[in-house]
Amino acid sequence: MKIIMLGAPGAGKGTQAKQIAEKYKIPHVSTGDIFRANIKNGTELGKEAKKYMDAGALVPDELTVRILLDRVAQEDCKNGYVLDGFPRTIPQAEVLDEELGKLNESIDHAINVDVPDEAIVKRMSGRRACPSCGATYHIVSIPPKKEGICDACGGELILRDDDKPETVQKRLDVYHEQTQPLEDFYREKGVLKNVNGTRSMEEIFEEIVSILGNTES
Ligand code: AMP
Repeated sequence: MKIIMLGAPGAGKGTQAKQIAEKYKIPHVSTGDIFRANIKNGTELGKEAKKYMDAGALVPDELTVRILLDRVAQEDCKNGYVLDGFPRTIPQAEVLDEELGKLNESIDHAINVDVPDEAIVKRMSGRRACPSCGATYHIVSIPPKKEGICDACGGELILRDDDKPETVQKRLDVYHEQTQPLEDFYREKGVLKNVNGTRSMEEIFEEIVSILGNTES
């Protein structure tokens, strides 16, 4: 099963993607996570991506598409995957579509987690991330057991540069301009499903499971 998560930055699609990956036993592929891992390891790719990420801009399509296609070509993706943060532009979606077409494959579901901008801004300023292991928290909805400390690895939690209020607004503008058109792209393919993302994580996940079905495939 090949699934795409759509929605504004901070809509909660990452949290849902992780749960989907667990339930359906498919890898969670996040381009943002891949970029952050590269930044942490000081790779050339990381250095290049960081310039755009810190500014709230998108990493250029060419670079992003290359790393994504490499990732989904790996053995663990052969039964499907859940993409979180990709595609983010129409050209990215077109390349993915083309590449899947060559294998006689296609995206099965594009789940759009819908949250109004005002709620996004509120949420993102409360987001905290662990720079050591990548775990994410929220000071209100998913607090760590000990304030400021990662439950998973004991690292010190930070407010990511790209979650700072000035960057959040810029990211929302970019989202409306470049990513939201993907809703029409996948609607036309008959795979778009809208989910109201303002409810609890459990309720949202329940609705997603009712869309995807209860069996692994
Ligand atoms: P995320 O963790 O998905 O919110 O991604 C963090 C940042 O990584 C984004 O604000 C972009 O700068 C960059 N990024 C992640 N995925 C993509 C993508 N598919 N296309 C372009 N830039 C991306």
